[in-house]
Amino acid sequence: MMESALTARDRVGVQDFVLLENFTSEAAFIENLRKRFKENLIYTYIGSVLVSVNPYKDLEIYTKNHMERYRGVNFYEVSPHIYAVADNSYRSMRTERKDQCILISGESGAGKTEASKKILQYYAVTCPASEQVQTVKDRLLQSNPVLEAFGNAKTLRNDNSSRFGKYMDIQFDFKGAPVGGHIINYLLEKSRVVHQNHGERNFHIFYQMMEGGEEDLLRRLGLERNPQQYQYLVKGNCPKVSSINDRSDWKVVRKALTVIGFNEDEELLNIIASVLHLGNVQYGGEDGIACITSDTQIKYLARVRAQPAQLVSPLNLEQASSARDALSKAVYGRTFTWLVNKINASLAYTNYSVIGLLDIYGFEVFQNNSFEQFCINYCNEKLQQLFIELTLKSEQDEYEAEGITWEPVQYFNNKIICDLVEEKFKGIISILDEECLRPGDASDLTFLEKLEDIVGGHPHFITHKLADGKTRKVMGREEFRLLHYAGEVNYNINGVCVFVVLFFARCNKLCTQMFVMCMSENKILRQCFDREELSDKKRPETVRPTQFKASLAKLMEILMSKEPSYVRCIKPNDSKQAARFDEVLIRHQVKYLGLMENLRVRRAGFAYRRRYEVFLQRYKSLCPDTWPNWQGKLSDGVSTLVKHLGYKPEEYKLGRSKIFIRFPKTLFATEDALET
Ligand code: ATP
Ligand code: MG
Repeated sequence: MMESALTARDRVGVQDFVLLENFTSEAAFIENLRKRFKENLIYTYIGSVLVSVNPYKDLEIYTKNHMERYRGVNFYEVSPHIYAVADNSYRSMRTERKDQCILISGESGAGKTEASKKILQYYAVTCPASEQVQTVKDRLLQSNPVLEAFGNAKTLRNDNSSRFGKYMDIQFDFKGAPVGGHIINYLLEKSRVVHQNHGERNFHIFYQMMEGGEEDLLRRLGLERNPQQYQYLVKGNCPKVSSINDRSDWKVVRKALTVIGFNEDEELLNIIASVLHLGNVQYGGEDGIACITSDTQIKYLARVRAQPAQLVSPLNLEQASSARDALSKAVYGRTFTWLVNKINASLAYTNYSVIGLLDIYGFEVFQNNSFEQFCINYCNEKLQQLFIELTLKSEQDEYEAEGITWEPVQYFNNKIICDLVEEKFKGIISILDEECLRPGDASDLTFLEKLEDIVGGHPHFITHKLADGKTRKVMGREEFRLLHYAGEVNYNINGVCVFVVLFFARCNKLCTQMFVMCMSENKILRQCFDREELSDKKRPETVRPTQFKASLAKLMEILMSKEPSYVRCIKPNDSKQAARFDEVLIRHQVKYLGLMENLRVRRAGFAYRRRYEVFLQRYKSLCPDTWPNWQGKLSDGVSTLVKHLGYKPEEYKLGRSKIFIRFPKTLFATEDALET
């Protein structure tokens, strides 16, 4: 509660970072996090932003009682919690009739997906319901295990890592009951279908099916109950994970599919099996021309005994394997999108009030960063831009509404970086696109040269070339560096797009056509690959960068139209252990989540603000004139009270309905006075 948190602040820190005396000190910030984490207080605010540290253990703070405690209660009256954020958004939606969104960010394993599930559970339990609503609630909740089975995987950093970004609208009717939903997925990591790093796995569904699938199902699909048999499952050498029970998860997924009202199970599983078979297709051949040597797989794929000769393609061995893998990725990726659409159809969405949940990868910086990281980091750059615009705007709006003069804030506006990436004609994405579409000799290196020509002088862009024609030794020749708002990242341009996209567009189509013809009785696949595209009428899928840019622009538009809340998740250590607070790792995340910048913007003017009646109610006992009750105007009461307490004019301002206090120490002194 407020009292205990404020007075016990030496032990448990402050529950809102804006109350830190030394708010520009990163060390003080981290010390506050540490104190709280030690006491199992995993949540702390920066104003209305919730910072959460993954406890890596089950805490008794998500019970029904806890939900009740946060229901309908003001943000500041109870200790920080994910339920407070959920409840606050819900109430704003109900009372102000404004759509809301909750943006959850953080690095892999930080607890984003868990947070989004807790929010969903909160609504499922606390919102009113009728029988029809119950069905929607169930479907909303059950969409999680399904999407996790197909879109999550065990990685080195998280046993249940979401390998796609997700935006989900929960739709409420005029009574405040959840009546529908809609999901948009972003950037599924399709490369995982064909390759996994050591110690990682493919998507959960493959292992679930293998472990849990009934005998006759596996027989029909021509599968053996042994992941080691399948090329697409052996690369990570990690078929079993101690924290995961594939067999019981399989049951959960099957049940969830039923709740969602799914009746294409057989087709869906057929595709999953086909991908495994496809991975085992081997090529042999002479004169550098590939032909398929593994007849069994083709039999299952085609359901007929195909003649290997029919499948000879004008490709060499390496090209043929790459084309096979590209096909597997395309099939899996499109099936995933199909699944999302299917879930959406079952959630029956029409346009009432909504609360959106965004569970999307945070900034990623690896040893080797590719096009995938580029997209993810660009996405974060956009979200930061949105955050700055909206936070500053809401601060400004509040000052204006309260009749207080606005004081300009010093902050870094990352628009310059967004422009560098997305500007028409001369942004990185445009240049990339153009190179992709240029026939002839386009390659990764010509792409880099072009980048140097066009954006070479940009203050946030660096390559190995120095302005005087010399080379920068610390940079490779196949990479460029972006100075993101959160820090520097080097991107490797190897295979970034040009070669891959141009090449596969052609030979992939050949394979795709064959594959889809082979499996044409599969309804799902027929819907995933439309005829137009397979005949030459439609342009091949060469415009990935632009597509991503467009889908992000759409996301920003969706978010802009709503009132945002933020949850920033932090991973306390790399070993998935409870009670370990790794300071180096945490400092890194505080930086990449832009938390100090958050705090600076939030603290630009005043650390604390409260409505007059709340302030007066709490402190009226400290002044004989306001005790036991103030009879006059509220603002006069507060004015009398703070003068009695000796507030100096520069320490506070009185607005129309609120008092603004500039420094935490003023507030703490008043709090301490209450104690004595
Ligand atoms: P990714 O980006 O890889 O998807 P993520 O941020 O979504 O990562 P989660 O899957 O939500 O991470 O969390 C990783 C694990 O951490 C969970 O499986 C769970 O074991 C633990 N965890 C996260 N949040 C909590 C919490 N509030 N209480 C207890 N355990 C948690
Ligand atoms: Mg996740």
